[in-house]
Amino acid sequence: MLTVPVGTSPTQPRVPRPFVRYTLATTAAAALALVSLIWARPWRIDAPVLFTLLTLFAVIGELMPIPVPHRHGLAKVTISTTFAFAILLRFGVAPATTVYVASLLVADAAGRVEPIKILFNAAQYALAMLAAGAVLTVANTPPLTHISATDLGVMLLAAAAFFTVNHVLACVGGALLGGLPIARYLVEDLRFQIFTGGCLLAFAPAVLASGDMSPPLVVVAFLPVLAIYVGGKQAAANSHLAYHDALTELPNRLLFTERLQIELAGADHDGRACTVLLLDLDDFKAVNDTLGHEFGDRVLVKVTRRLQAALGGNGVLARLGGDEFAVLADGSGAEAERLARSLLDALDRPLDFDALALHVAASIGIASFPAHGRTAVELLRHADVALYFAKASDVAFAAYAEEHDEYSIDRLALAAQLRRGLDRGELVVHYQPKVPLHGGAELGVEALARWNHPQLGRLGPDGFIPLAEQTGIIKPLTHQVLQHALLQCDRWRREGLEITVSVNISTRSLLDHDLPEMIAEVLRESGLPGEALQLEITESRFVSDIGRARATLEELRDMGVMIAIDDFGTGFSSLSQLQQLPIDEIKIDRSFVTRMETDRNDAVLVRSIIELGRNLGLRVTAEGVENERVQSMLRELGCDYAQGFHLGRPGEAAECRIHLGLGAIAGPLRPGPELP
Ligand code: C2E
Ligand code: CA
Ligand code: CA
Repeated sequence: MLTVPVGTSPTQPRVPRPFVRYTLATTAAAALALVSLIWARPWRIDAPVLFTLLTLFAVIGELMPIPVPHRHGLAKVTISTTFAFAILLRFGVAPATTVYVASLLVADAAGRVEPIKILFNAAQYALAMLAAGAVLTVANTPPLTHISATDLGVMLLAAAAFFTVNHVLACVGGALLGGLPIARYLVEDLRFQIFTGGCLLAFAPAVLASGDMSPPLVVVAFLPVLAIYVGGKQAAANSHLAYHDALTELPNRLLFTERLQIELAGADHDGRACTVLLLDLDDFKAVNDTLGHEFGDRVLVKVTRRLQAALGGNGVLARLGGDEFAVLADGSGAEAERLARSLLDALDRPLDFDALALHVAASIGIASFPAHGRTAVELLRHADVALYFAKASDVAFAAYAEEHDEYSIDRLALAAQLRRGLDRGELVVHYQPKVPLHGGAELGVEALARWNHPQLGRLGPDGFIPLAEQTGIIKPLTHQVLQHALLQCDRWRREGLEITVSVNISTRSLLDHDLPEMIAEVLRESGLPGEALQLEITESRFVSDIGRARATLEELRDMGVMIAIDDFGTGFSSLSQLQQLPIDEIKIDRSFVTRMETDRNDAVLVRSIIELGRNLGLRVTAEGVENERVQSMLRELGCDYAQGFHLGRPGEAAECRIHLGLGAIAGPLRPGPELP
């Protein structure tokens, strides 16, 4: 019937000492009882065909376990019980115990169960059967060669003894194995156990009755037992579904939380540390939005395989929902950070999809027991806070710190605050200069949104743009950024600075039919020509819905507005797509530019993008220029514009004005305008 879990905790591979002691005690008790019993009562097999059939089905039943999956490992319930119990009623306790234990040994050995667990299961099976036999003996019931209604009461009592001993022994064993509170283990799933166990035991008299009429009828009686098996298996499958993610087959949030609780109880007991890592893919929504959910699903499956490989069988990996994964692992501190790094490294290589190579990046939040929390809820919340902090501050991973708690503000509340903040003028726009590397070209600036949150201080776009995109606030936000940017551009132009301003546009907005109308209106209000404005669209975000994107872009182009592809090199534009789209500029992603000094591959990539741009007649801007050397390399390669910390960090308009003056000198020919 019920056995202890066959797989141990992945984070705790050793068998705990208390379980070993418990097994030894159980085995000793079982051996003692068994030996005295076999000596006391000789076997009397007066119906060999029936006995053989019952034995056969007991073995088959043991080989067909119903997995009970959502526990600490995988416990099993087997239908052999019906036949072993029938042997008890018909032939006595010694043959029943022998058959039952032997069938278990065969099945567990075939299933490669650890020896200590085989020993324990054998002992507890024997004791359960012996308890039932004891009830029959006390009630003075001889082997029942003929089943009659008068024996029903004692048979039920024997079944109850069997069930109770099996359940208590197996559950205590399971609890000791997992370091779980015993009481909890005993009541968990009790209803499922009583139902299956009860049905299996109650059916034994019916099997015997059919065997009484004619032994081969036992074969027919196997069918209803098979029905219990199928039902139990279905229930187990449903429970598997309730505890696993259907797409990746990984444990879901429910199971992860349960495993975490188990692990915490064990870690607390042994004074160990353990860690929860929450991993969230960056910008995954864009993949779904642009390439479709089906493709998004394939990405998630590939990401899962990569993460599994990185974990190499250690720890528990779960998918908590969407693009959020969780890992439960041993250790804390530097060890946890090493693990975070190796998980991120696993996603470093692009994922291959036939002709596509997709780059995915992720952020990780870390919370460890006991330093960052003692309960599952606390650790998950703190890992989430750390994750949010990592995203907002543009680091790959972060461990929880109390100071991060400000990031734990409920996201929905944050969205509401953002909407109000827009009305209250909390959105500010910073500008970063974009400087020509060769003579004759105009200066540019890129408008970058910031949010002056009344409590949290200044937040960068990564801290609120995704939220705005998810909640529809992106539309009024983009509108405000455009208004600010064009107003500022107009001011600079009035001061004699011939400048164009770039504004970032989210895919959401790009697919919005009102976008061209909104931009036309903002341009009208500012009195500036369309040529003063450039829109930056992130490469990875728009390629799939190319038809719609093109229509919108063409409409904008007709107004004179220029279009740039942002973060070029990170997405999947093909040459033909580039040619199809009405664009003016490509902006090389800053990651390649920053690394081009040290990484040959990046340098080659930057050079080929510049050549590609030139061949297509497009302007090329390199982002992320952080020093003079990179700037001169770019100039030599024929890149048109440079943008980056070396030429000026994003700042308020006045600050940017100073950079623009210097930048114009750095780029040749243009006289530096007056400083304000
Ligand atoms: P982006 O369009 O790629 O913007 C450039 C980002 O690179 C800016 O980060 C800027 O501060 C940073 N950066 C500039 N030069 C360097 C450098 O030399 N080295 C390094 N390491 N970084 C540099 P920021 O301001 O945090 O913006 C992040 C992203 O947020 C932007 O990336 C853009 O995609 C998005 N964003 C910003 N403002 C808006 C907006 O108004 N609307 C939308 N939809 N997205 C926005
Ligand atoms: Ca940009
Ligand atoms: Ca960019």
